[in-house]
Amino acid sequence: MDDWISTHEDDLVELVRALVRFDTTSVDLSPGSRHTENEEAALQAYMGERLGRLGADVDQWEPDAAEFADHPMMPPWHHWQDRPLTVGTLRGAGGGRSLVVNGHIDVVAAGEGWTSPPFAADVRDGRIYGRGACDMKGGVGAALFALETLRACGVALAGDVVFESVPDEETCAMGTIAAIARGYRGDAGLVPEPTRNNLWIATRGLLHGTLTVPGRSAHVEMNQPPWREGGGVNAIAKAAHVLGALDGLSSEWAEREDKRHPLLGTPAVHPTGIRGGTFISNVPESCEVDLNTTYLPANADGSGYGSIPRGEIERAVANAASADDWLAEHPPTWSWFTDYPPSEIDPGSPIIAVAQEAGRELGVEVVPEGIDTTYDGALLTLFADTPSPAFGPGDLTRAHAPDEWVGIDELVLSARLYARAIVAWCGEAR
Ligand SMILES: [Zn+2]
Repeated sequence: MDDWISTHEDDLVELVRALVRFDTTSVDLSPGSRHTENEEAALQAYMGERLGRLGADVDQWEPDAAEFADHPMMPPWHHWQDRPLTVGTLRGAGGGRSLVVNGHIDVVAAGEGWTSPPFAADVRDGRIYGRGACDMKGGVGAALFALETLRACGVALAGDVVFESVPDEETCAMGTIAAIARGYRGDAGLVPEPTRNNLWIATRGLLHGTLTVPGRSAHVEMNQPPWREGGGVNAIAKAAHVLGALDGLSSEWAEREDKRHPLLGTPAVHPTGIRGGTFISNVPESCEVDLNTTYLPANADGSGYGSIPRGEIERAVANAASADDWLAEHPPTWSWFTDYPPSEIDPGSPIIAVAQEAGRELGVEVVPEGIDTTYDGALLTLFADTPSPAFGPGDLTRAHAPDEWVGIDELVLSARLYARAIVAWCGEAR
């Protein structure tokens, strides 16, 4: 297998380049968005064709958005019209363990500062450059190429491999949720995110919300009487007061035992967007602050979600508001729109040993790590009873930046690691 991968390295490179050339910048379907279309349907058609040639049962479908309307992670505007998912199931001969390989095919916006066009998949100095080359079309290509290698080398598996090609990971993660709802699961999973061939086994939860702080408009160049006598109230100044309280909460968390984890960073509340005021000579009447908060597995509630840290944040804001006579009577309001639960895989889980052994055979140390953000494997772990560490080529620090790249040597190594891990996990047919 190792030799076959070496002699067919050019095919692996062309596979990854083909994936990178589709502009699959994550769609934003929110009202007023101008980025509602991309080339993910064309990529999925390509993927379906490639999986079909491997002998997989290929399932391509557009999930029904209405079915997910009540899901805590589903944005009200999200849908899959003209945006199919692809799952290819390679049936084993029986008697082996099944493996889900899950990869997201959406990428973040290219931004500025590229040496070569972001979707040209330019090859220079042994690297493929392009948006998504590292996060994570390189990994998706390497894992798919591992399956193609097994077929070319005549290796028949005992267990099934379920290969999932999903959108939405960079936004709401509903692609993988929809694949899980379709019934796809396995005895374990591997997600070829750029982990430098280490294993992500713990993730933090995410809370996204918007806080609206009220004020009262007036002519800002006229000195104002007290608000009870009809004077204006500056919503931006009031928001600053509330943000001070949230900073205080982050400092408190930094000291707390339940906010520590051996593999994960200490959570904090971060303001990530602010909008206030409508006119330069008006007292701003409203200020909206977007907040992003992470939380640890130990901070989750009984259903695995973030109601506890969300309650702490709301209380900190309410306390700050009650200390201010305007805000006490005109309290800030919340709209929470994402609660992405944290996850943890037992370090003794057999899939971890299998990945580590594949590494040992190739002289690579595969280290279990935490990831301070999250990835789709967390959802498979939590909701599909499929412990799914991330395990893939490249380094996440190159992702979401100009001149993102993946090394051809990294792809070759990853394809070899995947070929070994798949055979070890699923077993060979006899
Ligand atoms: Zn990714």
